[in-house]
Amino acid sequence: MSSEFDIIQDYFNWQQTAASVRVGVGDDAAVLDLTAKQGQELIISVDTFIEGVHFPKNAPVEAIGHKALAVNLSDLAAMGAEPAWFTLAITLPESNQQWLKAFSLGLKKLADQHNIVLIGGDTTRGSLSITIQVMGFVTAGEALLRSTAKPNDKIYVSGYLGDAAIGLALIQARLKADMLSQTANTFCRNALNFPYPQNTLSKIIRPYATACLDISDGLLQDLTHILKASNVSARLDSDKIPLSSHALELGYDTALPYALSGGDDYQLLFTVPPENEAKLLKRIADADESISCIGTIGVNNDDKIRDSSGNLISTTGYQHFYGE
Ligand code: ADP
Ligand code: MG
Repeated sequence: MSSEFDIIQDYFNWQQTAASVRVGVGDDAAVLDLTAKQGQELIISVDTFIEGVHFPKNAPVEAIGHKALAVNLSDLAAMGAEPAWFTLAITLPESNQQWLKAFSLGLKKLADQHNIVLIGGDTTRGSLSITIQVMGFVTAGEALLRSTAKPNDKIYVSGYLGDAAIGLALIQARLKADMLSQTANTFCRNALNFPYPQNTLSKIIRPYATACLDISDGLLQDLTHILKASNVSARLDSDKIPLSSHALELGYDTALPYALSGGDDYQLLFTVPPENEAKLLKRIADADESISCIGTIGVNNDDKIRDSSGNLISTTGYQHFYGE
């Protein structure tokens, strides 16, 4: 059985180089050079992944590595921060080489795509658990918060919603596979297993948005977080919610609840003052990104979401469990 030292050397010492990392994996702690970060603020977030709670026991191993980092990158995207470094604390029941290889591959592929450097961590034995802490930077004062949405701001969302929640329903047999084409089955399962964090989009929207978060617990629940933090309300046009052609194979009425209350989308939900809309939409079109306007922030300070006729929309989301 490999020692902790061998596991670190073989799977987590990637020899990545970055000007800011003077000492990375291998010493007692990392040493980071901050001279190029003048005028910026450090943004930090941490998330723990536990088997059976945050991912299913039979999840593809490469997906576990990918998703553990993706959800953390998504938190940086939600803040408008540029990814810089991350640490990995991993607890493993055994040192299974095949498992470690697939896990570290999923992790490294995504890290390389987003220029984020693994600078250290901890490796221990026990029930499978993965904790990743990400660090990023944003120009001082420009981080995108939940608490700064303003009445009359337009509410935007990136990409499509609901695909991952449909993927989970397929895996848990709450939806039958034959309700969707083979292509849509694969697409929705991939949306669940390999969420794509919206860091590129985040950079584009940062100068134009007032508030932002990433959707992890479902659109309605997460929109409510912005409404509470900003002390406002919202008007939601449900018919503007972006549904993929794959989700729509279920039919609009079946697909919509997954988009409203399903989880694991990792799309950005953000607010844009009307005077910024035209400039933002031009930048979005130039970058070939996709965003949809799904409503407007209201003047009421009751945290409530109403439909286009003014009726209250209930926000109780699904509680999703991945265990048996
Ligand atoms: P110490 O006993 O001094 O904490 P460790 O043996 O835990 O040292 O770690 C040795 C080096 O390997 C440190 O630089 C640490 O940050 C790094 N490291 C340990 N586990 C991981 C991991 N899973 N991923 C990345 N780096 C790791
Ligand atoms: Mg240690």
